Order: sequence, then structure tokens, then C-alpha cells
Amino acid sequence: MAKKRNEYEQEEVICEELTMEQPIRPLKKEKLEITDLPGIGAATAEKLEQTGYGTVLSIAVASPGELLEAAGVTEAAARKIINAARSAMEMGFESGEELLRRRERVVKITCGSVALDNLIGGGFESGAITEAFGEFGSGKTQIAHVLAVNCQKQYPDSTIVYIDTENTFRPERIKQICEGLGLDYNKILKNIKVARAYNSDHQMLLAEKIEDLITKQELQVKIVIVDSLTSHFRAEFIGRGTLAERQQKINRHMHTLLRLSDSHNICVYVTNQVSSDPGTFFGDPTKPIGGNIVGHASTFRLYLRKGKKGSRVAKLIDSPNLAEGEASFIVTTEGLKDV
Ligand code: ADP
Ligand code: MG
Repeated sequence: MAKKRNEYEQEEVICEELTMEQPIRPLKKEKLEITDLPGIGAATAEKLEQTGYGTVLSIAVASPGELLEAAGVTEAAARKIINAARSAMEMGFESGEELLRRRERVVKITCGSVALDNLIGGGFESGAITEAFGEFGSGKTQIAHVLAVNCQKQYPDSTIVYIDTENTFRPERIKQICEGLGLDYNKILKNIKVARAYNSDHQMLLAEKIEDLITKQELQVKIVIVDSLTSHFRAEFIGRGTLAERQQKINRHMHTLLRLSDSHNICVYVTNQVSSDPGTFFGDPTKPIGGNIVGHASTFRLYLRKGKKGSRVAKLIDSPNLAEGEASFIVTTEGLKDV
């Protein structure tokens, strides 16, 4: 339905005021803050930061609807802000050559099963988020433990960050896997920084603090594991009314992880549950929690299920450059191996 004329006019007036009050500052500045954009004062900036739009880039790529929801501005104001962000950004065209050079920095952390490594192009990639989703017992946490050890094996000076939300990280398991590989588990355990996240806010905060480990403590973080990404969110936000808020928070969390992986060439591995809830008739039991928000931010998505004779089957879903396919592997005392 067409809007009434005066509504448009009102919005125009609001936008005019915004532009007059806060003209875009000269864009020579090294790093543009979101408060440099028209119509973003301290209060709006705070709301935007809390909902995952803390950078000019995140605003430039947002839709007016998203911004409207995130900051409570009018649609017209949101458009103005987005347009300003877009023109302020050099919208980052990189030549294919530059991209290729960046791709050359990519490292791959292997998991012990050659079949699974091959499925995802030779190992779990840095500069990307790999999500493993699947039912309870499908092997998500086992992969996390193996990646932690193998990261240390491949990069002895590296640090592993492990955000544990379900209290399933086990140093004893790390010890077993190390012994299988003939590695000194004490050294490896020393380099795994484990943080138990007690709720979703805590989890988000922990992820945001990883930047400090890298810049202030100068640790060479090579892999960040979040196991599980969604369990707290799922438990805390129940019912339809809270879905939008939950998705917004997951979105913000994913962006934190995405930024980390991108700016520090880190391999991010997150686990996710599937929506099998016997209490409802809704939901595909093979669908990951968090839906598109998680899916869009992940570069690789693996669907894990139990296979024959105690094996596990991983299926690659939505990869930018690899064929869809499946790989079978077995969880053993020493880690993962091929069937
Ligand atoms: P989830 O997908 O719920 O995180 P896990 O990764 O914890 O599942 O997988 C649990 C399964 O891993 C167990 O059911 C068992 O089959 C296997 N497993 C766990 N620890 C060992 C071990 N030390 N030796 C052999 N298999 C193990
Ligand atoms: Mg688990």
C-alpha cells in the first residue's frame, strides 16, 4: 500500500535534520567510525554496536530493514545512513590477483581422517568459519579436540582458543590424542586457552576478547573453537517472541568470529545442534539451529550423522569452491581416522 504523502515528507524532514546536524566529516580520516555517519549519535551508535553493526562496513552492507530493527531509526533515516556508509567506504574492489595472494596465506588444519580433510579441500581452512552441525553424539566435539591438537602439531608456537559452552572440553581427551601422535601433551595443554561460557552474553564477550589475546598478549591464535555456538542461545530464547532478538545476537556473534577469521587469518570451527525437538511438530530434525544467519557467515558447513558400525558420516553442504560430497570416519582413542 502506498504511503501517505505526509509520512514521506516527515521522513524527509527527519533526514534533512540529520544531515544538517551531522555532516559527514571529511573522509580523509584513517579509520571512519560509525558516529561519523549522519544521524548516528552516541545512543544510536551504542544500539548499533550491540546488535552487530559497529563498523562502517557492516552498515554499508546492511539493508534498511535490518538497521531499522537494530537501531530503531526510521526507514528513511536508515537509508540515509546506509548510503552515507556506502559512499564513505571505498567499496573494496580487490583485483583477482590480490585475492589470490590473500588466498595463499590460507592454512589448513588437518583432522586425522584423510577422507574428511579431502572433503573440505585438504583441511579446516584459516580465514574461514567451518560449522559442523548434527545430533548429539555425532562427533562435533571430538573434531574440536582433534583440531586443537593438530593445530599445535602443525604450528608449535600457536595458541588455540576454545570456548566451551556445554562443559564438554576434556583435557584427558587431549592427552589421549597427543599420546596417539607421540606429542608432549603438557606443552599442548598449555597452549590451549579454554574458557567456559556460562551464558550467551558471556560467550559473546569471550569471543570479543580474543582480539585482545592477539593484539595485547601477542599470542599467535591460529584456531578458535566455539563448542557449541548455539546451545546457550537456544536455551535462553524460547518462544516466537524472542526469535528476532536471538537471531540478532547470533548475528553479532557470528560477525565477531568472521572479523577475527578474516583479519587475523584464523581458522574458526563452530558446532551447532539440529532442531530435533520432540516437543513440537515443527522443524526439520536435520536443520541446524540459527538458520540463515549462521549459514551465511560460515564458509563451510558440515552435516554430521552416525553411520554404520559406529562410523560417522560428514556431508559437505554449501561450499564456495568444493563439490558436495560425503566422507566417513571413525572416532578412536587416538583421534579420528578413516573407515
Ligand atoms: P557431539 O556431536 O554431541 O559433540 P561427540 O563429539 O562428543 O558428539 O562424540 C561423542 C562420541 O565420540 C561418543 O559417542 C563416542 O562414540 C566417541 N568417543 C568419545 N570419546 C572417545 C574415545 N576416547 N575413544 C573412542 N571414541 C570416543
Ligand atoms: Mg558436543
